[in-house]
Amino acid sequence: MRTEPQPAPYRPAPEILGLADWLGDPVEPARFPKHIVRFRNDRWADAVGLGGMDDAGWAKHFAGFEPLDDNLQKPLALKYHGHQFRTYNPELGDGRGFLYAQLRDAAGRLLDLGTKGSGRTPYSRTADGRLTLKGAVREILATEMLEALGVDTSKTFSVVETGEELHRGDEPSPTRSAVMVRLSHGHIRIGTFQRLAALQEAEHMEALIAYCLEQFPGSQPPDDAPGRGDPAIVLMHQVVERCADLAAAWMVAGFVHGVLNTDNINISGESFDYGPWRFAPQWDPGFTAAYFDHQSLYAFGRQPEAMHWNCGQLAVALRLLTEAPPLIAALDRFVPLFEAAMQRRWCWRLGVRSAGAEADMHLLEQSVAEMRAEQISPDAFFFRHRGGRDAEGALAEALVDHQTLPGASDGSFWQGEPPSLHIEEVEALWAPIAERDDWQPLFQKINAIRALGAVLRS
Ligand code: AMP
Ligand code: MG
Repeated sequence: MRTEPQPAPYRPAPEILGLADWLGDPVEPARFPKHIVRFRNDRWADAVGLGGMDDAGWAKHFAGFEPLDDNLQKPLALKYHGHQFRTYNPELGDGRGFLYAQLRDAAGRLLDLGTKGSGRTPYSRTADGRLTLKGAVREILATEMLEALGVDTSKTFSVVETGEELHRGDEPSPTRSAVMVRLSHGHIRIGTFQRLAALQEAEHMEALIAYCLEQFPGSQPPDDAPGRGDPAIVLMHQVVERCADLAAAWMVAGFVHGVLNTDNINISGESFDYGPWRFAPQWDPGFTAAYFDHQSLYAFGRQPEAMHWNCGQLAVALRLLTEAPPLIAALDRFVPLFEAAMQRRWCWRLGVRSAGAEADMHLLEQSVAEMRAEQISPDAFFFRHRGGRDAEGALAEALVDHQTLPGASDGSFWQGEPPSLHIEEVEALWAPIAERDDWQPLFQKINAIRALGAVLRS
């Protein structure tokens, strides 16, 4: 689905500076007692020309936040609002992160280096602006696994342990601290637009739309879409397309993001901000990741609905500039786009060719029936039947028209155990770090996940 990141030279591109006066606040990074480099994403560092540093240089930039050459001279805490569990909150914004730098990859796409755990900002409210080391390790694991499974996700670029003691209700405390850097296609959220709508900043919203259309290029609306010449409508269609695909990508990955608030939804359609995420141990639509999600609003099977609702909030915000009917026409595309993306991605993960919408939908239904009957996880299901093999009964019948992709299940990879990342495994990877600073199991796991990604992409 995606190719390997390609090595490229460092190309600074601080495009945000044109919007910075009203989009963010310059902030000071925290000064940490220690810088212990724990994780460098060398594949992606090479793709943005930053792979050549030694660890000291790395820490100077990705924990000390000394500016990169010809880049932002001061980090920018971005301003946004958002709906949290359907309640509007105008007091959000980067409370423990900031935009540190912007650059371009080999294909010329604009990428942000943003932080998590880099200190307090005007948006920290009563919180400490910090990230736990365990939170950082969990974010490495989520991003690596999702990338391997073909999900459009932010990349964990760097994790540096920072030597502070943090107190958290959901971790044995005191607990270790870290600062993380993520690489992603922008940090413009649905909540960024909601803030401009709430403040009635029409000119700024026009400028932000122009920025998104230029920096995150997408397709044009369908020929019959009303208002298709209006930039706000073009953006609306692109976000609906991306969110529908992302919702399908999570479902096929068996992934529960956990906190699908509008401030966590990137306009570029990239999945990001991994807190209480989990991979579903079974195909259970009610499976809920966040212990604080008491209504199961963001349960596994409700993610498509949550994303549709979030797109609706973008439409409400864009009403500042445009009329409702063309926005509604864009929103109405969500469900058919989601279904098509489910079919396409299901076939891809299973290693078979599409056999048309009806046959693909039937395959999907029989696959779910099989997972339920066997009480197995999506990981186990897709592994067991990769290339359409070992299917019996109704599942075999549903597969008759689906050709196997060439080489789909060749090689020793498909003989072993399915790589997965269920909560017990995550805890088992964290334990040796917590108990004896043993990082080997984590790095072995990352290698196994990357091997899965390589065979799925090949
Ligand atoms: P999240 O649910 O992680 O996306 O965070 C929601 C809001 O709370 C955002 O504005 C975050 O910046 C802020 N936030 C979360 N944790 C902290 C923290 N430890 N310190 C400061 N702000 C935080
Ligand atoms: Mg967030």
